[in-house]
Amino acid sequence: MTVSSKDLLRQLSELQAPTGDEAEVASFMEKHFETAGFAVKRDMLGNVIARKGNGEKKIMVAAHMDEICMAVTSITKDGFIKFAKIGGIYDGILGGVRVTLHAKQKILGIIGMKPPHLMKEEEVKRLQEYEALFVDIGAKSKQEAEKRGIRPGIQITFASKFAELDGDFVVGKAFDNRAGCVVLLKLAETDIPKDVTLFLVGTVREETGLWGAGTSAFAVEPDFAIALDVCLGGGTPDVPEDNVPIKLGAGPTISVIEAGGRGLIMSRKLVDWIEGVARKNKIAHQFEVSDKGATDASRMQYVRSGLLTASIGIPSHYIHSQNEVIALSDLDNTAKLLKALVNEFPKYK
Ligand SMILES: [Zn+2]
Repeated sequence: MTVSSKDLLRQLSELQAPTGDEAEVASFMEKHFETAGFAVKRDMLGNVIARKGNGEKKIMVAAHMDEICMAVTSITKDGFIKFAKIGGIYDGILGGVRVTLHAKQKILGIIGMKPPHLMKEEEVKRLQEYEALFVDIGAKSKQEAEKRGIRPGIQITFASKFAELDGDFVVGKAFDNRAGCVVLLKLAETDIPKDVTLFLVGTVREETGLWGAGTSAFAVEPDFAIALDVCLGGGTPDVPEDNVPIKLGAGPTISVIEAGGRGLIMSRKLVDWIEGVARKNKIAHQFEVSDKGATDASRMQYVRSGLLTASIGIPSHYIHSQNEVIALSDLDNTAKLLKALVNEFPKYK
């Protein structure tokens, strides 16, 4: 029996894969790929590389498995834990939230926050910088925290749970990029054309510099590389559609330019081809240009002597918060578009 996109996203969102230690999500992906008949291997960095089919055209679809996180830097003598940020975290989201510390056993902690009653007027107005924050696990001393396995380097992830909102909106942590991982798993369930060898790759260390995409694309050397990731959706009071014209529920994006052109720039020919495939298969889609963000595609495009590379985005609100929001219909439309691209690619010239 196949699992729905929603249930896959629920499970994947609540797993933990801090950047650099993605094993929990990797094992989940590996199990599903094997069930779908893929040959799977894990490389030195931890990328999951799943392969199926024997056709002449090699297509690689990548989605990163890691999530933004933090890491323990020191423990105060009273047992409070100081931390560094790993990945793009805005300090304003940190105070008062629940986190998971990845000691041998997972430990629940909270990031402490000074009650506003005790703040001076200028403190209330100012952003609380992360250097002043700390994690509280209930330990009363440094020794007590160490006894529970806390030491510098132990990673920390957010602990929010998956939930459903109105309509087909859902909320949870790490939809960046478990949403892309769900699409990989849905794609694994479909038939592969006989002239294609399909590589589905769960990549590591995207959030700190697109590392896994580089090494895995080098190993696979595909004829066509596609990165799946979330992309910035607009339409909230703070992000008007004039600034970000991408809507949740209006289909995947063809992400033409990343990081203001310092990252991926898709060729006109490839963009037109993908648009044509979407239209022919009646799949809703949008076009995206991102000023700052980059995905695995920005790395894959300059692997070896350069790879034909596309970036497909799943619109999301509140990216890099503990509560990211997407529309489930976008997941299914993204999976449909990917299936169509895999089917049509042998005819791309
Ligand atoms: Zn991200």
